[in-house]
Amino acid sequence: MKYISTRSKIKPISSAEAILRGLAADGGLFVPEKIPKVTLEELDGFRGKTYEQLSAWLLGKYLTDYTEDELGECAELAYNWFDVTARVPVAILIQDMKNPVAPVGNMELWHGPTSAFKDVALQMLPHLMRMALKKVDETKTILILVATSGDTGKAALAGFADVPQTKIMVFYPDGGVSKIQRLQMITQAGSNVNVTAVKGNFDDAQNGVKKIFGDKTIRKELDKLGVKLSSANSINWGRLVPQIVYYFAGYLELVKAEQIKLGDQIIISVPTGNFGNILAAYYALRMGLPVKKLICASNINNVLTEFFATGVYNRNRKFFKTITPSMDILISSNLERLLYHETGGDFRQVSKYMAELNSNGRYVIDKDLKARLDKIFHAEYVTEDETKLFIQRVYGSFKYLLDTHSAVSIAALSKYRNKTKDLTPVLSASTASPYKFTSSVLEALELPIDGLDDFAQINLLNKKTSSKVPKNLAVLNTAQVLHNNVCDKDEMPQRVLDFAAQ
Ligand SMILES: *Cc1c(COP(=O)(O)O)cnc(C)c1O
Repeated sequence: MKYISTRSKIKPISSAEAILRGLAADGGLFVPEKIPKVTLEELDGFRGKTYEQLSAWLLGKYLTDYTEDELGECAELAYNWFDVTARVPVAILIQDMKNPVAPVGNMELWHGPTSAFKDVALQMLPHLMRMALKKVDETKTILILVATSGDTGKAALAGFADVPQTKIMVFYPDGGVSKIQRLQMITQAGSNVNVTAVKGNFDDAQNGVKKIFGDKTIRKELDKLGVKLSSANSINWGRLVPQIVYYFAGYLELVKAEQIKLGDQIIISVPTGNFGNILAAYYALRMGLPVKKLICASNINNVLTEFFATGVYNRNRKFFKTITPSMDILISSNLERLLYHETGGDFRQVSKYMAELNSNGRYVIDKDLKARLDKIFHAEYVTEDETKLFIQRVYGSFKYLLDTHSAVSIAALSKYRNKTKDLTPVLSASTASPYKFTSSVLEALELPIDGLDDFAQINLLNKKTSSKVPKNLAVLNTAQVLHNNVCDKDEMPQRVLDFAAQ
């Protein structure tokens, strides 16, 4: 399988190269030349096998320049960190709001080291990169630079810690992240990690990192030290492909729980931000997973809801900060891959849309494309109050606790069912542990949080709901602080060079 760009005709490259480059030189995203197929018989063969086995096999369909053994090793190393054997267990919430027959499987993607779904991919990517370096005969060390407003930093640190031939450096705004997010990062162990607070806000940290990426002198200095810069952002193919696996695994879990029979159609609902997670579900559908509809669930930053309803993508709108911060996004980068595939690989058309987005903040897709998307997608957005209401309702009915993002998915699904009366069984992507967004969850349950710090809130939620606190959060209070670095934003380049030289 070779990889090409969404924006122009390029010489096809291997998956190892696509993973190392991240972004194509023309600004486009790498996509597979064709989408591989999986039969139900083949899938049936994975009943009773491990998530790692399924993962290695499915990845093998896309990453054909990796051997089966290599992909098996990647999967073992990535998922032994998950604290449940199923890796992505599916909780069945049957009585689905007034309706006794239609099941909703809540697929818990948050049993990894940082309790959010980005772990599934960020635990795998470093190993894919390390092996890719060997494949292209690259002997330099890769230095991953990240500017974070909170969660991605920790997930990337946990993924890259102690992975050979890699280093990771995370900049976060001093005073601009929550107490828990800061503790998660500054207690990160590993011989190849650096965490530095930047005096300034998130934009300062992000601009600092962008400048370093664009600075030829720094790159030359790094080159002398045997170091090459890279990033781990969510448009990297190596982050997307591990996400396809859990839709197949979740489907098999529904079969195992006797909610569906092999071959039955399901609906998949996904709380969406950058469009990575739901795009992985789209690939699963195109590969042959029996999926009737994909529900694109958004918060009040509803640019995608409007896009799927009208065919107009318009980022010129007010930006809201919500209780689902990981979905507060106005440009969903991975949508570009969907446009490419659904135009039948028309890179000219895709470039045109992306150029319009860049210059006017807006583009309108043509009727044919709109009609094709209508067949696959249904989009709904959910208000802040509705999100809280669904946390309360699901807890009330099932004693099952949802985080805010996962509640958006269930609430959007409920809107879809009310409109269409479609009672097809559902797999809903649950993207974070409720303990990652404790204060909003407590508020939704109408438990007062005045004067309680983050840890006291975790204890309160634990006491009131008897749900389990994830281990990584439970130990945080007593973990040793390993990183005390603080710098001015102008000092960032020097800090990078210092760390590279270590
Ligand atoms: C990143 C994230 C999302 C959005 O996923 P995309 O792939 O960006 O669409 C949803 N929920 C949580 C908790 C996340 O961290």
